[in-house]
Amino acid sequence: PAYRAASHRYEVMEYRRCGRSGLKLPAISLGLWHNFGDDTPHQLKRDICTTAFDHGITHFDLANNYGPKPGSAELAFGQMMREEFAPYRDEMIISSKAGYDMWPGPYGEWGSRKYLIASCDQSLKRMGLDYVDIFYSHRFDPETPLEETMGALDHIVRSGRALYAGISSYNTERTRQAATILRELGTPCLIHQPSYNMLNRWVERDGLLDTLDAEGIGSIAFTPLAQGLLTRKYLNGVPEGSRATQGKSLDPDAVTPDMIKALNGLNDIAQARGQTLAQMALAWVLRAGVTTALIGASKPSQVVDCAGAVSNLTFTEDEISQIDALSGE
Ligand code: NDP
Repeated sequence: PAYRAASHRYEVMEYRRCGRSGLKLPAISLGLWHNFGDDTPHQLKRDICTTAFDHGITHFDLANNYGPKPGSAELAFGQMMREEFAPYRDEMIISSKAGYDMWPGPYGEWGSRKYLIASCDQSLKRMGLDYVDIFYSHRFDPETPLEETMGALDHIVRSGRALYAGISSYNTERTRQAATILRELGTPCLIHQPSYNMLNRWVERDGLLDTLDAEGIGSIAFTPLAQGLLTRKYLNGVPEGSRATQGKSLDPDAVTPDMIKALNGLNDIAQARGQTLAQMALAWVLRAGVTTALIGASKPSQVVDCAGAVSNLTFTEDEISQIDALSGE
C-alpha cells in the first residue's frame, strides 16, 4: 500500500529558525551515515525514514560517500523519494555534501570547484532530485583557496542545484572567513554542521557557537548521542548488535568502567527529568542554541524515542552543573 504520512506530524515536532534565514528546521533531524548502505535491508531503511517523517522530522541529511558502498545511501534514499516521498518533496529538507574521498584520482575529494560541482550532480542523479535543499562543503581543504570552494557553493546555489549553502567541521577562524566570502558572493552561509555532544564540546571551547550566533548562521549538531554512547544501551557495557560491535566508527574501547559510571550517573538525571538518556542528550545539545540535533538510527523505535526529546528541552542550573561534573571535558 502507498505510504501516507501521519496527519498529526506537525503537532508533535518543534521547528526552529536556522540562523537569520527564512528556513525553519525540525529540532531533531535524521542522518543517513550508518544503516543506509547495501548492508541494510531496504525495508528497514524505509521504515526508519517514514517513522521520522511521521514524527515531524522533515530534514534528511546525506553525503556523497554514505554507504557502504559510497553512494549507496543516496541511491536508497532516491528509491524512497520515488516510492514513498514523491508527494511530500516540498515538505522535506534534503541535504548532501562533498569533501571526503569519493572517486579515484585528483578530482574525487577535498574542495576544488571541479570536485564539488561534479559530486553535486552525481548526488542529484543518485537521489533522482532536481535540487537538494542544502549543499555542504564537508570539510575545509587546506590546499584549495577558500574563495574557490565557496565560489563553487555559490555556483551550485545560483545554478539551481541547491537552495542553500553550508559548511561542515570548519573551525571558528575558517568559518568567519567562509561566511565573509559567501556573504560577498550573495549566497549567505545558511548552516554549519559540527560534531557536538556532552562528551565532545569543541564547539564551545573554539568559540564556534558564539561566532555562528554573531554571523547569523544556523547549526546542526552531528553525533549528538556520541554515536549511541549517550543512550541507555551502554549502561552495562557493550551489548551485541550495537555500533560499537560492528568494527565501524565507534571504538568499543571508549566504553571504559569510568565511562559506564558516568553514563549511569547521567541516566539517573535523565530519569529524574522523566526522560530517556537519549532524550536528555538531545535536549542538552539544543539548550545551547543549536538549531537542530542530527541523529542516526538503526531502528524506527530509536527515532520515536529521539523525537520525544522535544517534550522537555529546559534544564535547571543544578541539572546543568551535575551534567558538567559527570561529562565535562
Ligand atoms: P548519533 O550520535 O545520533 O548516533 C546514532 C546511533 O546511536 C544509532 O545508529 C544507534 O546506534 C544509537 N541510537 C540512536 N538513537 C537511539 C536511542 N533512542 N536509543 C538507543 N540507541 C540509539 O549520530 P550518528 O553518529 O549516527 O551521526 C548522525 C548523523 O550525523 C549522520 O547520519 C550524518 O548525517 C551526520 N554526520 C556528519 C558528519 C560530518 O562530517 N559532517 C560526521 C558524522 C556524522 P546502534 O547502531 O548501536 O543502534
